[in-house]
Amino acid sequence: MKLIFEKSISGRGQDIFPACDVPEVLPKVELRKTTAHLPEISENEMGRHYTALAKRAHGVNDGFYPLGSCTMKHNPRINEKMASLPGFVNLHPLQPAHTVKGANELISGLEAALCEITGMDAVTFQPAAGAHGEFTGLLLIKAYHQDRGDFERNEIIVPDSAHGTNPASATMAGFKTIEIKSNENGMVDLESLKEKLGPHTAGLMLTNPNTVGLFDENIMEITRLVHEAGGLCYYDGANLNAVMGIVRPADIGFDVIHMNLHKTFSTPHGGGGPGSGPCGCKEFLKPFIPGLTCKDGKEYTRAEKSIGNMTGFYGNFLVMVKAYTYILTLGAEGIPAASSNAVLNANYMQEKLKDIYPVAFDTTCMHEFVLCLQDIYKDTHVSALDVAKALLDYGIHPPTMYFPLIVHEALMIEPTETETKETMDEAITAFREIYDLLRKEPEAVQACPQTTPVLRLDEVKAAREPVLKYKFD
Ligand SMILES: *Cc1c(COP(=O)(O)O)cnc(C)c1O
Repeated sequence: MKLIFEKSISGRGQDIFPACDVPEVLPKVELRKTTAHLPEISENEMGRHYTALAKRAHGVNDGFYPLGSCTMKHNPRINEKMASLPGFVNLHPLQPAHTVKGANELISGLEAALCEITGMDAVTFQPAAGAHGEFTGLLLIKAYHQDRGDFERNEIIVPDSAHGTNPASATMAGFKTIEIKSNENGMVDLESLKEKLGPHTAGLMLTNPNTVGLFDENIMEITRLVHEAGGLCYYDGANLNAVMGIVRPADIGFDVIHMNLHKTFSTPHGGGGPGSGPCGCKEFLKPFIPGLTCKDGKEYTRAEKSIGNMTGFYGNFLVMVKAYTYILTLGAEGIPAASSNAVLNANYMQEKLKDIYPVAFDTTCMHEFVLCLQDIYKDTHVSALDVAKALLDYGIHPPTMYFPLIVHEALMIEPTETETKETMDEAITAFREIYDLLRKEPEAVQACPQTTPVLRLDEVKAAREPVLKYKFD
């Protein structure tokens, strides 16, 4: 397929602006020296180009998308409708507070809802993504220790099953990452944790349910041990999808959390962004919260020992509109029901697949589960990647692969609550047919996909030598 620049023909195109009939006021020095390289193409051809591109991509509207840890649930259209109301769309971030009371009320309402769901006392919406929320939460932890005159606490403990953003955020925030092992059940190893705790412990970062989809049964003991050592507990709540309305992170000992509105709270994800990774905290961390807040509808204020700004203004406001719409639509009964169904769906698929694809940890899972294809690979040389590629020919987006790192040849499946039994049954059939094929004819699976616009790509080259812009000659 040709790029839009390759379709460009000099002189063609759409000049929608009339000739300038007012004096030009820009000083000449500000003007660019050469004209911008813009594709010159008719509106008709441009429409076709982007439609063709869209048809080659796979989104939640195209089919099953069980990408573990990413919660690719349906994005209800009413969210979009609310986020496109002119009263929200046409706001300017510099408007005085008294002219944007509705927007501020929405922010307060969403904050209250997320506080209720997590048990926290305050939420800042400044972070623009999950990793950004982690970074914010860690800066809160740092500010808390330093405010008490404790400059020795420079270590963040992270389990080996953690999402890669956890150690990255800890490093960005100036901490040393201390890794602890998971035990044979995929949970935090208490002995390993005890060994690492001490006067340098600033805190622990944990996802619960963790990245293998299991709820850590020792969670009360874990958070107690960290507090006893003087550290704080950070909850990576990127995926609250198993627990919202059921377990509140604050009740199990966590002090700080981030949530991904673009996962659990049904706002679009990835290329459909922007995202939002609000960060919540307990009362004693409130003085450090970033950004400005408007509590009385009249004035913006900054917390007394605020860590500053994590982003311009208030974060991605229209994402908040979508998430708030979602929460209000579901209500106090719908929220836990969504979580229960997410867990039910994951367990349904796990039960229907585990006789042929071994699960990494054979127990009731939460919102996702991890298959371990290590033995299959040993027998047949068909890898988790090959199975993922084969799913593409069924119109199914592959699960997350090779994550978490503690499981070899991992496929991590998260169906979410918004899939029907019929869709999951189709996917189960696809998985089982691929399994039959890999036993009979492994080369055939290794040669998949056969029906996609591009077949096997050089994934290493794409990551190492990304070509992100068109090279004009
Ligand atoms: C997705 C995810 C993140 C990171 O969120 P981004 O918005 O992609 O930065 C962090 N932790 C976990 C467990 C996640 O699943």
